[in-house]
Amino acid sequence: MNAPAYFHAESLDMGNKADFPILSRLVHGKRLVYLDNGATTQKPQSVIEAERRFYQESNANIHRGVHWLSQHATDLYEQGRERVRQLLNAAQANEIVFTRGTTEAINLVAQSWACSKLSPGDEIILSGLEHHSNIVPWQLACERTGAKTKVIPLNDQGELDLQQYKQMLGPRVRLVAIAHISNALGTINPVTEMTRLAHDAGALVLVDGAQAVAHQPVDVQEIGCDFYAFSGHKLYGPTGIGALYGRYDLLQAMPPWQGGGDMIRTVSFERSTYADAPQRFEAGTPNIAGVVGLAAAIDYVLDIGLERIAAHEGALLDYGTKALQAVSGVRLIGTAADKAGILSFVVDGIHPHDLGTILDTDGVAIRAGHHCAMPVMTRFGIPGTARASLALYNNRDDIDALVKAIGAAQTMFG
Ligand code: PLP
Repeated sequence: MNAPAYFHAESLDMGNKADFPILSRLVHGKRLVYLDNGATTQKPQSVIEAERRFYQESNANIHRGVHWLSQHATDLYEQGRERVRQLLNAAQANEIVFTRGTTEAINLVAQSWACSKLSPGDEIILSGLEHHSNIVPWQLACERTGAKTKVIPLNDQGELDLQQYKQMLGPRVRLVAIAHISNALGTINPVTEMTRLAHDAGALVLVDGAQAVAHQPVDVQEIGCDFYAFSGHKLYGPTGIGALYGRYDLLQAMPPWQGGGDMIRTVSFERSTYADAPQRFEAGTPNIAGVVGLAAAIDYVLDIGLERIAAHEGALLDYGTKALQAVSGVRLIGTAADKAGILSFVVDGIHPHDLGTILDTDGVAIRAGHHCAMPVMTRFGIPGTARASLALYNNRDDIDALVKAIGAAQTMFG
């Protein structure tokens, strides 16, 4: 397995479990071994506290009040935008649109950009490892515009076939929409190179960063992508908040997709005019407390350092890969050379759902099924996998508990 440039063998325990109150609870009388971070991460005390303090000390609606508290809440909200800018190294804070999460961010681009710019015969390139959130919004846009999708195939390791990709980049391709990291397999896609190739062919690029932002440094200027989407809840932040990065000139040229308060400049019954980006895309009262919690989550990971987090999770992935490979009857699905902390596997004779249920009785929380990536399962000819997905608070004990619980399940089924 190729180690990322910033990888150096470090301690496999960052000692951060104590920051996460939920990790000290028992499940079925056992220590909670939380390995479902691809679905959502747990929250550090600082995030919980930031949301609580917002409601206790700062709550007011934003952008419209003349009173002090409203201005204060507005400042906190806009500081949150600046934090996201910093996380992604966007050039300007007004390139950040707050959304409910990755799904809403992608739908925003599909409904605003794609539905207004695409014509019959135009093409959108997706990859064979996308989450349904980066497939279905484009299918809906294609139904409305007459555009069509094309799909980059996967090899047996779960990597994208870049030769095929290059051949697919014809003159009708208007957009490439790809995951930064696959939630089902952990494959890290070469998004910088893929963006360069797409731009050379005259297409825009949207990167689905849902599985990336919590696990490695992300720099949208270095990637060069036009849009980048992520969810706060997979980054140790609250649910119901996320963001879309969009190049400012593109956002400014896109029509609104939802109408309401805050996104307008003037309203009359004859004709309404719209605010500049990003406000144009933030109709109605947003999730203000969520933004405050997200900002606290970003502070939390930036304080630790995303290079350090990536190194820790990379080392733990290596440890977990070897541990699972040593268990007979276990087969890893997805063995990309460049891979993030996701262990997707099948166990001979045990359906992933049964395995997940048995592991749960030992306090080991994993995910089982298609992981909202049904085409990936079809590609590998399986109904689903068991998936252990890592976060900064996981350690070697967690992997050992997983392996032990798999052994117990095999004995039960054996
Ligand atoms: N894209 C990827 C790669 C994901 O892993 C997920 C969630 O698992 C999503 C998109 C959707 O994220 P959300 O449900 O937070 O909008």
